Amino acid sequence: MECPVPMLAAGDKLHGFQVLRVEQIPEIRITAYEIEHDKTGAKVLHLHCDDRENLYSIGFRTPAPDSTGVPHILEHSVLAGSERYPLKDVFNELMRGTLQTFINAFTYPDKTIYPVASQVWADFFNLARVYTDLALRPRLLKETFLQEGHHLEFSNPEDTGSELTISGIVYNEMKGAYSSPESLMYKTIQEHLYPDTTYSFDSGGNPGNIPLLTYEQFKAFHRAYYSPTNARFFLYGDIPPADHLAFLAEMLAGFDRAAVDSTIRSQARWQQPSSIRSTYPIGNEDKPAGKTVVNTAWMMAENTDYETALLLQITSGMLVGSAAGPLRKALIDSGLGEDLSPITGVENDLKQIAFVVGLRGTDPEKAQRIEELTIDTLTNISKSGFDRELIEGTLHQVEFHGKEIVRSAYPYGIVLMGRAYHTWLYDGDPLEGLNFTRLIEEIRKKWEVGPELFQEIVRKWFLDNPHRLLSVMEPSQTYQAEQEEAFKKKMAQLKSSLSAKELEKIQQDAYTLKKYQAEPDLPEAAARLPKLSISDISREIEIIPTVKSAIENAPAMMHDIFTNGIAYLDLAFDVSDLPEDLQPYLPLLGKLITNMGAAGLDYEEMAKRIVLKTGGISCLLSSGLSVDGKKNWQRMIFRIKALHRNVKDAINIIADILTSADMSNESRMRELIAEKRNDLQAAVVPSGHVFARRSAGSALSVPAYRDEQWHGRTQLKIVNRIADQFNEIRGDLLSKLTVLQNRVFKRGRLYINLTADSEGISLLSESTAELVRRLSGDGDIGSPGTPALSPIHAGIVIPAQVSYVAKALSAPAYADPLSPSLHVLARQLSTGYLYKHIRVQGGAYGGMSQYDMMSGTFALLSYRDPNIVNTLNVYRDAADFVSRNKISREDLEKTIIGTIGSLDKPMDPSSRGYIAMIRDFTGITDDDRLKFRNNILGMTPEILLEDAFRYFTSAADSAVVAVYASQDSLEKANKLLEPKLAVETLT
Ligand SMILES: [Zn+2]
Repeated sequence: MECPVPMLAAGDKLHGFQVLRVEQIPEIRITAYEIEHDKTGAKVLHLHCDDRENLYSIGFRTPAPDSTGVPHILEHSVLAGSERYPLKDVFNELMRGTLQTFINAFTYPDKTIYPVASQVWADFFNLARVYTDLALRPRLLKETFLQEGHHLEFSNPEDTGSELTISGIVYNEMKGAYSSPESLMYKTIQEHLYPDTTYSFDSGGNPGNIPLLTYEQFKAFHRAYYSPTNARFFLYGDIPPADHLAFLAEMLAGFDRAAVDSTIRSQARWQQPSSIRSTYPIGNEDKPAGKTVVNTAWMMAENTDYETALLLQITSGMLVGSAAGPLRKALIDSGLGEDLSPITGVENDLKQIAFVVGLRGTDPEKAQRIEELTIDTLTNISKSGFDRELIEGTLHQVEFHGKEIVRSAYPYGIVLMGRAYHTWLYDGDPLEGLNFTRLIEEIRKKWEVGPELFQEIVRKWFLDNPHRLLSVMEPSQTYQAEQEEAFKKKMAQLKSSLSAKELEKIQQDAYTLKKYQAEPDLPEAAARLPKLSISDISREIEIIPTVKSAIENAPAMMHDIFTNGIAYLDLAFDVSDLPEDLQPYLPLLGKLITNMGAAGLDYEEMAKRIVLKTGGISCLLSSGLSVDGKKNWQRMIFRIKALHRNVKDAINIIADILTSADMSNESRMRELIAEKRNDLQAAVVPSGHVFARRSAGSALSVPAYRDEQWHGRTQLKIVNRIADQFNEIRGDLLSKLTVLQNRVFKRGRLYINLTADSEGISLLSESTAELVRRLSGDGDIGSPGTPALSPIHAGIVIPAQVSYVAKALSAPAYADPLSPSLHVLARQLSTGYLYKHIRVQGGAYGGMSQYDMMSGTFALLSYRDPNIVNTLNVYRDAADFVSRNKISREDLEKTIIGTIGSLDKPMDPSSRGYIAMIRDFTGITDDDRLKFRNNILGMTPEILLEDAFRYFTSAADSAVVAVYASQDSLEKANKLLEPKLAVETLT
């Protein structure tokens, strides 16, 4: 694997562009081109490599002028349509009807980026063509502004006597963000650490300020910043640079250089530290004691000073990046709070880098002591220095993560784009952040010559830096009610100031907007979008190289895949026969044993070993139905990754953990439990739809039940109880965990999965054999447990200004003849019926449908939703809608293309190995996959309609509902609902 041969040279001119620079980065096998468009000054960065997943993005520097969220509302609105593509929502059309592997748009505090990715060249250029036109020449209709931004409406649209309220997709999205402690914490610090700059505003929009934005200001913002002169095009993948330039030349034709001032100004450094107090919402039943978060934040170096940026990153890794980090340890050991603040670490998406560290689960009166302890610890470190192994371990982590090919929710190109932008946006060198392996070598040399290198960083950027902010965020039981009260009052005042005629006008406007939203696009407009046809789609499936074998009699799978010198090992233990009372303790067992001491070493020494020799150890729990739906599997899976040279040591570490984990350190155990509780608790509001889906689904199948028990509200309740009563139940907990340890980690329960190139596989096999020999006994596996599943129709109270509504139905497994149709149907509902009724007309940030063959559930979900009753009505009518509105052949074709795009989504090496293992547990063969795919490609409107009808008729009785919302919203909804939701507290 090498860098592609350069196809252009610095100084070359082509299609109206000038090549400024060509550089190769062998560590990531890239040939980079920095290019500029002569006429407009548009900047282009192309990273040419052999990845088939090409990424195109257009980005603009967009400093927010206030907190009305104008950059964010514009980000949503430009994607609605342009003169050339005059549809209501082009973004949704592209999302559902192309082979895109990624399509999105991001609003940052100072930039807005529109990325799309595809593995098919024709599809890629179709997407890039439409995206560029949308960004540069959007229609920005008034209706779009009202829908995406904000508009007034009556709570009962028929009645001008009913309450006046505000809706809008961004408005509701941000109400959700302003209910999440983590994002409130982050916003407060950003706004107060850079008070004299654009970062003192919320580019996403504060719900209190969003309604102040006018349509004219919104259009003016586009005129000011969305010109090619202010644009940066980031391109990644195997398409040659000349093809990109020919395409861009066509896109930029007709544009001239514009006068744009988008400079991001720096914050002047303070002469002395400052502080800020703020609040966040908690539930009425939650006690505020011990729920404050205290953070200390510093403004550090300019991002364009890349060497310092990297040194800060490394220093941060040493201070707080692992359990062996001295600052992390000092804070946690102090007992001043429960666990580390979730926003701890370096923030480098801003012009000047910030570093934040703090404690969660504390009280306001401890803030001063926390800050003092932070400074004292840093002072000690600046004098005595860092542990040598910790420095080596942190440098190893940087090397590992620079090398690893990751394709999680985002394409790898997006990861590289993020690194380039850290310097590029501020007119620095875009390649510095990509070239860091070389820089690491230089840093290592400097450190060997001057061993105080990192202490000096601590002195200069932490201790001698007065630009420091102490942030104290306290919980408030009344926050939620106060916000609602203030809003109601404001709206009542507004309403009383308006004449009957004005009120009628509001009603009329809201009605006109709804009417506009309900009208279908003209077929001629839809026909303008370039598209693929089904015959363009490959009939093949990707086969993951797999050899089935055994290691010391344990079944094993091996995947010989290029992994850039990294070896991946999965150890999956069967847990299906464990008694029901022990099942909920498995997640805790996984967390504790991977984070405590083992083999005679304490947790700090183990943490050091892990950072020094592995790229990380994780434990997860997974369960699914067999392919015929008759059985299920349940596994506890440990995942370890390491550079080839460290494979033996890494496997030794996991072997020590599995065979001799030491749970005796009581205070460490208490910390880890608190951390687990706090992480789960903090996840509820940002992922309310996932929690609601789990709660509803738990009634329908054993895998869905386990998902809720291991990851959902049930788990939160259990961990919460353990954290609260730790002293009383510690003995009982320990004995449960010990029983599990002795029962689960047996040779006879183990399934081994290896992913690496052939050299890596032989290294892995050898060391894994030793590990298996160290595990005791064969351990008979009993018959799987049968938990009692009970139906649910509940409202769960959470402190949020928006709701999450889930309805779930029982659904068949993979091999069922209905499954291809349900797979297409879920997508069709998500991008059609639900998108339109829940998001566009309902104003929720999201409405979607998910068919999960693994758990045997079909779910309808809403996200950051201002409605409950209306949403449940929309769900109720879904089956009717499907059977009454036969989908057109053309429409179905789009959905099929989109479905295939999602089936073919590329995966990184580690995920490819992992998914092959999961398919084996389920019993899915490559023939099954091919058949499934062909059934989707051959789908007709008739088949879909008939299958959907058959499914909904038979599944209707299984329907279950879970709504996560505020007390007030649930009570209001229950006045109208029949049957009523059983209202329960979260924990
Ligand atoms: Zn948004």
